[in-house]
Amino acid sequence: MTYLVFPNENEPIISCQSAIMCPICKLGQTSFLFQKLYKGLNLLHSGIESIPLNFRKCHVCGIVFSVPLSKEAMQACFAWYEDIYHKEAQVEARTPCNPINQIRYAEWLRLLEPYRKTGKLFETGFGRGEFLMTASKFGWLCSGNEASFNACESVRRFGATVYCTDIGSVDIVGDQDIVVSMGVIEHVPDPHVQFQNYYRLLRSGGAVFITTPNYNSLARLLLGPQCRILDVEHLFYFTPKTISRLLRMSGFRIVKCWSKNVNIPEILKGFLPIYQGREAVRTANQEFRQMLEFNGILKQFKAFVNWCISQSGVGEELYVIAVKSGGELPDIYNDHRNTETESKKG
Ligand SMILES: [Zn+2]
Repeated sequence: MTYLVFPNENEPIISCQSAIMCPICKLGQTSFLFQKLYKGLNLLHSGIESIPLNFRKCHVCGIVFSVPLSKEAMQACFAWYEDIYHKEAQVEARTPCNPINQIRYAEWLRLLEPYRKTGKLFETGFGRGEFLMTASKFGWLCSGNEASFNACESVRRFGATVYCTDIGSVDIVGDQDIVVSMGVIEHVPDPHVQFQNYYRLLRSGGAVFITTPNYNSLARLLLGPQCRILDVEHLFYFTPKTISRLLRMSGFRIVKCWSKNVNIPEILKGFLPIYQGREAVRTANQEFRQMLEFNGILKQFKAFVNWCISQSGVGEELYVIAVKSGGELPDIYNDHRNTETESKKG
């Protein structure tokens, strides 16, 4: 994850009544959606109890965003990320990767294998470095950038090339087969510029693989402002349609855009007081996924539910594979050229 502040970082939280420009298309046609009073450990760590988040939607590009935060709130989030999250990461980096994550990462790497040419893979905002560790086992020459100094130190130890800076300062041009961006674009101040950086790093015909929370997810539709993805650290919220449009604007061709998974503990928490706090929901969700992954019948059931979710476009997480224009699509994806129509459901 990368944390950067909006250009107008010294501005206080803006009233939801003000005319606010869309940060992506730079037009003023946005309207207020709702407000959420956010409370979280990431703010409490710096002594801030709560902060009101105002959500807006652009009528031109369709993007949903929260208005620029105060510098104080952004610094509080980063301090928590660096002090707490990555101190744990240093310990965890010495232990094997979570088995569920290993299975997911291996699935994704198999999807990206047809793009291997230079053998180079770059991950932006690599966090604990688990994906890069898995990719290096698959024979990729790995590099990545990350804003957290603690995270960079723990990942450098296993041989990846590490840039402890934002992606705009990474001096790689046009030789990466793959750029991986997991849970990053919702955090950055300008996703359009972020996509242009992915484009710069990739070789012609190279692919970007993106994951981000789905604003059209079942949990968000059912729980509204209480949904956990509406977080102080998330500045932009994407649907299949809005992410596809922005990628095309940045010179990419969409190969596949889909959504997966449903956070059942979170939805239950919204209607029944059975889980107390975000951490309890996260643990319950992890246990639930572990049970699904290692039980044959439940795994079949999970595959069926995921099929239904992907057909309706309401999965918790959004996934996109897009190719830098100018290159040919690998044959394996010819059947998926029409999957772009899935994005129209967004
Ligand atoms: Zn816009």
